[in-house]
Amino acid sequence: MTASSALPYQRLHVELDARRYPIHVGPGLLDDPDMLVPYLAGQQVMIVTSETVAPLYLERLKHALSGDGRDVREIVLPDGEHTKTLASVERIWDALLAAGFNRRCTLVALGGGVIGDMAGFAAACYQRGVAFVQVPTTLLSQVDSSVGGKTGVNHPRGKNMLGAFWQPRAVVIDTRTLTTLPARELSAGLAEVIKYGLIQDVDFIAWLEARMSALRALDADALTDAILRSCAIKAEIVAADETEQGQRALLNLGHTFGHAIESHQGYGNWLHGEAVGAGMLMAAALSQRLGWLEPDEVLRVEALIAHAGLPVTAPASMSGDDFLSIMRLDKKNIDARLRLVLLSRLGDACIHDATPSDMLDALLTDFPR
Ligand code: NAD
Ligand code: MG
Repeated sequence: MTASSALPYQRLHVELDARRYPIHVGPGLLDDPDMLVPYLAGQQVMIVTSETVAPLYLERLKHALSGDGRDVREIVLPDGEHTKTLASVERIWDALLAAGFNRRCTLVALGGGVIGDMAGFAAACYQRGVAFVQVPTTLLSQVDSSVGGKTGVNHPRGKNMLGAFWQPRAVVIDTRTLTTLPARELSAGLAEVIKYGLIQDVDFIAWLEARMSALRALDADALTDAILRSCAIKAEIVAADETEQGQRALLNLGHTFGHAIESHQGYGNWLHGEAVGAGMLMAAALSQRLGWLEPDEVLRVEALIAHAGLPVTAPASMSGDDFLSIMRLDKKNIDARLRLVLLSRLGDACIHDATPSDMLDALLTDFPR
């Protein structure tokens, strides 16, 4: 990955050989044709967006993409995780076919991770694959879902059960879109930002401790720096392990505990990032029990998560057995051994499948509710 700073915006590249692509980050990029037009495959452009995001940003993006005789259309889908279905993707395909769009069309995702995942999957399949550009508008999608090429939809029997790896041609992150994002969604995105520091970059942890208030106040420079650093860490991990054979699993810090919370509480009641926030603290506390972290380091993790506006306790209605029964179903487990992402020290994660069961039981029982 490479970063440059002598520009009015910041840029880095995800290094995937022939599919190498840039991530541009800065305020106001949504209006800048130079950020977008070079990445279009041809004259046909379909913007995929949602009912919440369209009134806020669609016209501006359309304006930036129009010109030179381009045929720019849009499809506006309803919002919410429950709409992340094959039926919604079929609506995208229907719109593409109705417009007569060919293999040189480009899909542009304008919205959060739900829109990005669906538009990417639609692009991966339409006529066996067409160009795709991401314009993510939530912090979570800017630092996580728009980078790495995982696309897909949910099945009634499981989340993200249908999908494909399909890399975008570019990711264009306009940090000003975060001004309209609800504060709770911003905090949820900060959970993933903190995750990158915890798994890979102890200096970034210290930076976040100093800049958390600025981030929550939407300070433009702080946001650009945090997003860029997060994308750089994810890009590096993805470039080394595109299809998750090994290292990419470290991105799941806090997610095994977090998924248990989300699934027990009913998806949507705890935002994903909120569950990951509490889950990362549980992983840190277990790492302390294993002798890998000092108590004051766990307190640092707790303070940072709390400062981001995220929960640092588990749901009162959830017992240790509730956690265990859900965690045993996790995809990362091999041969019935529970595999957890833990912290070997601050700024370094590992996959561990030998936590003594009485130690895990005690953690799950003792963790504050
Ligand atoms: P989301 O897409 O549902 O967006 C959250 C809410 O914010 C929505 O109601 C949306 O309309 C609204 N919104 C979006 N941008 C806004 C803005 N600028 N101003 C005001 N409101 C705005 O949720 P999300 O957190 O962005 O993404 C979650 C999804 O991402 C999940 O489906 C998850 O599975 C997926 N995901 C994918 C990957 C990946 O690698 N592909 C990684 C992480 C998460
Ligand atoms: Mg996540």
